[in-house]
Parts: sequence; C-alpha cells; structure tokens
Amino acid sequence: MPAPFNTIDLSTLALKPGGGRRLDLELIPEPLELGGETYDFGAEPAPGRLDVSRTSSGHAMRLELRAKLFGRCMRCLTPAEFEVEVESREIDQPGTGDEELASPYVDGGELDIAAWAHDAIALALPQSLLCREDCAGLCPECGVALNDLDEEHVHEREPDPRWAKLRELTD
Ligand SMILES: [Zn+2]
Ligand SMILES: [Zn+2]
Repeated sequence: MPAPFNTIDLSTLALKPGGGRRLDLELIPEPLELGGETYDFGAEPAPGRLDVSRTSSGHAMRLELRAKLFGRCMRCLTPAEFEVEVESREIDQPGTGDEELASPYVDGGELDIAAWAHDAIALALPQSLLCREDCAGLCPECGVALNDLDEEHVHEREPDPRWAKLRELTD
C-alpha cells in the first residue's frame, strides 16, 4: 500500500493535455464536527483513488474514497461505526479567469486532497448518523438506550386523572 499523503503537487504528474493518471492513495481525513459531536476516521487510513486528467488549461479530478467514521449514534448516543463512500469531482482551470472553474482545493498547483475529502464526506453523509436503521433511541422517561433491552421497556404510569373524569362524563 502507498504511504498516506494529504496533498499532491499536480505538476509532478507531468501530464500532457488529454493525458491522465490514476493514483491509489490512503488518507486520514480531518475529523468532522456534527451536531456538537466529533466524528473521526480512526487510525486506519481510508483507501481511495484519485483520477487526474489534464485539460487544455488545467486539471479535471475525480476522487473516490471509502472510509469508516467513528462517533456516537445521533439517536441513542452509543458509540458506533459508520461506512462512508464518496465520489467527487473537481475541475481546476485557473487560467480561464472564471472563478467557477478554479478549484478551492488547488493552490499554486498543489491539490489538498485531505481538505477535499473532508468536505466531500461531509456532503455525502446522511442527515442523521444512526447505529442501525431502526435504532430505537432512548427512553423519553428514563433515558436508557432501548436497542438491546430483552424485555419490553415500559413505565408504570398513574392513570391520568383527566381520563377518569372524562369517563365519568361519558358514562
Ligand atoms: Zn442508535
Ligand atoms: Zn425508561
């Protein structure tokens, strides 16, 4: 496996217009802050692939990445692991004078893969990160995590006196 790297100087690829290069890479993206929680990528670098092709006045790039994210389930708050798959494209044609065509991740010919991966992952994540699709969350009464309880979790409740009153009225 190649060593982890976070930036790459595109000029070192020495691509001719129309030419392209595929690079296998390993990345540890910066942790994400979501809803006041930190989600990090652990110690294992995430495997990815970068395709760079040279256009007439710049580069077109495509990043594919598979990563594991570690943090708390947003519903039951237990530590969990989340799989993320990302595919993202960027174009950098600095010479055209068109802001839209200058990639925010390329600076002086240097592509910041880690920053790009970070943003692409943030965009690709679902609205809520759940330990499992049907996570039962926390009991609203006592706060216990409901997923792994063997028995049905119910709280004995005093019957609401208003219902008794209502029953009297309708009888
Ligand atoms: Zn959960
Ligand atoms: Zn409870």
